Amino acid sequence: MTDESPALYVVATPLGHLGDLTQRAIEVLRRVAWVAAEDTRHSAPLLRHCAASARLLPAHEHNEESAAQQIVARLAGGESVALVVDAGTPGISDPGARVVSRVRAAGYRVVPVPGPCAAVVALSAAGVDARHVLFYGFLPSKATQRANALRGLVRLPYTLVFYEAPHRLLATVDALAEAFGPARTLVVARELTKVFEQIHSCRIGEARAWLLADANRQRGEFVLIVSAAEATIEDAAGERVLKLLLGEGLPLTRAVRLAHEITGVARGTLYATALRWQENGP
Ligand code: SAM
Repeated sequence: MTDESPALYVVATPLGHLGDLTQRAIEVLRRVAWVAAEDTRHSAPLLRHCAASARLLPAHEHNEESAAQQIVARLAGGESVALVVDAGTPGISDPGARVVSRVRAAGYRVVPVPGPCAAVVALSAAGVDARHVLFYGFLPSKATQRANALRGLVRLPYTLVFYEAPHRLLATVDALAEAFGPARTLVVARELTKVFEQIHSCRIGEARAWLLADANRQRGEFVLIVSAAEATIEDAAGERVLKLLLGEGLPLTRAVRLAHEITGVARGTLYATALRWQENGP
């Protein structure tokens, strides 16, 4: 039996192709009394497209707290509300988290209605290893802060996903090259699900020239995907020595200390590897 109690429905909407609006999203938008939208003018045509007669209320980053209060009041009055953003999934580099948290705290149901999200759409067609992914969203726009943020990501063994605006694209690609070096794979996913969709895979060091070769390549909306840091030659040497020492029966901490002294690989890295081997075998 479906639960008919008032709820906040968190509804993902298309990134650019109306056909990507799910059947369930359409049904929810038709059923609710209110749609809380990041930009009510932007979302009005979507409601018309669904033949939904819900009333719109604004819920954007500058009024999220008062919007949350309004939404809780509607729920208290027995009316359900759908939350949408201009494109994609609410709360993902977009407003939504505060509304959801207030509604949850007030004891009402929050029901996700899944659909497009640019990060996931890009990953699905990027052809990179996506077993372990770090979704970063937007990097800081100031160069120094951006460089600092990237420095913290350099050694992470996760595929990295960034959102970027067109006017910062080149600067960000330069910053990626500076931080990560030229060799890692970069996927530039542009205008996903739209007419000029383009998904280009190259080395980070090749990206600047590719973007400059055609002005259109810097137009539109972008997801940037950087392949995970791979173990360096030093890391591999550290692991070899560690395996040898453990194989000789040395206690774990001693083997880690010696492997560190012999190869220079960070103690923490070696320790984590040794523990992993203890659990899962080398
Ligand atoms: N909530 C959205 C989601 O679920 O993906 C993201 C909203 S965020 C404000 C907007 C950013 O998402 C854009 O600057 C771009 O980086 C990315 N994006 C949105 N639509 C896109 C598209 N069609 N193609 C590529 N990137 C897109």
